[in-house]
Amino acid sequence: MKIKINENFSKMKESYLFSDIAKRVNAYREAHPDREIIRLGIGDVTLPLTRCVTEAMHKAVDEQANKATFRGYAPEYGYDFLREAISSYYARHGVSVPADEIYAGDGAKSDLGNLTDIFGANRVLVPSPVYPVYVDSNLMCGRGVVLIEANEKNGFLPTPPEKEEPLVIYLCSPNNPTGAVYSREGLARWVDYALKTGSVILFDSAYESYISDGSPRSIYEIPGARGCAIEINSLSKRAGFTGTRCGWTIIPKELEVEGVKLGKLWERRQATKFNGIPYVVQRGAEASLSPVGEEECRVLIDYYRENAAIIASALEKKGVWFTGGKNSPYIWMKCPNGMGSWEFFDLLLDRVQVVGTPGEGFGKAGEGFFRLTAFGDRDKTVEAAARISSLL
Ligand code: PLP
Repeated sequence: MKIKINENFSKMKESYLFSDIAKRVNAYREAHPDREIIRLGIGDVTLPLTRCVTEAMHKAVDEQANKATFRGYAPEYGYDFLREAISSYYARHGVSVPADEIYAGDGAKSDLGNLTDIFGANRVLVPSPVYPVYVDSNLMCGRGVVLIEANEKNGFLPTPPEKEEPLVIYLCSPNNPTGAVYSREGLARWVDYALKTGSVILFDSAYESYISDGSPRSIYEIPGARGCAIEINSLSKRAGFTGTRCGWTIIPKELEVEGVKLGKLWERRQATKFNGIPYVVQRGAEASLSPVGEEECRVLIDYYRENAAIIASALEKKGVWFTGGKNSPYIWMKCPNGMGSWEFFDLLLDRVQVVGTPGEGFGKAGEGFFRLTAFGDRDKTVEAAARISSLL
């Protein structure tokens, strides 16, 4: 063919992380078929959708089977009932977000990737180690990314750069992969920086429901954030929607550049390239955000939080340095004795048959660290924590 392709794709690093893990695990399994391997590496949930969610979805399926109640294309920004349910969910947590600033979508990953459409050639700042979507979605459309290092010294919570300039800034709290959570003061520093420099913050709050110590769950808890921040949230880890798909983006009306409202650009973008999420999913999402749904989801979240506490307690007893585990389903531990992340991966697999994720897979700054997740089965998590403990 003679056509031109998007050459920016060649600027992205191939991601071999999960295929490398699978290769090593498969090789080990073949060599030791009698040993049980426990996986604490997956970022996917394992508990099913809750009762009120599935009931609402069943009812919606029946409506779709009836000519009188059938619905075709859904509105691009979500049905009003869902936007209102999201708004009420925020209100219950003390944050006022009008329904017409909420744009429902099929998950945080799509929205984070697609938001690049509404920005021009800005400097983009991303803390590292990081959820790879922030970097790759910018590289894909030809934008360079400046990495700011999260490390042991700053508790994996970097502060704004000294140089003051307008930036598109990605923040994720609680963080994937590090589990670190910004305090009110920590986030306020970023909001102040953004307001002062005319920057915009893209705040990924996909894990906000894991926070229990009063740290901010939404960037809009920080005064001034409505003037500089977009928030992206998801039902994946909160309500088990990883396979059902629903999330949302909030763009306050105050956000505008030279008289152009960012919300209007996003509306145009979504109306052009997106045809909405299925009615059945939106009814399930609405149910998950109701007070009853929230109680039911609390059971799922508490299960994973308890798993995290089990792993965290095992590490604490061994004096291992880590972040996360308390307000997050991720535990980010320092590899013992100065080991590299892959070296520790191999040791854990070989000696105690536990699989985690090498920190280096999330960027160079992750070298020497290791991610364990709390999304597994309780019995297996207890067993894995005991095995890790015995090795350390
Ligand atoms: N943001 C972060 C930080 C994540 O870790 C993930 C998923 O692992 C997502 C967004 C994607 O969420 P969703 O399933 O809603 O696309």
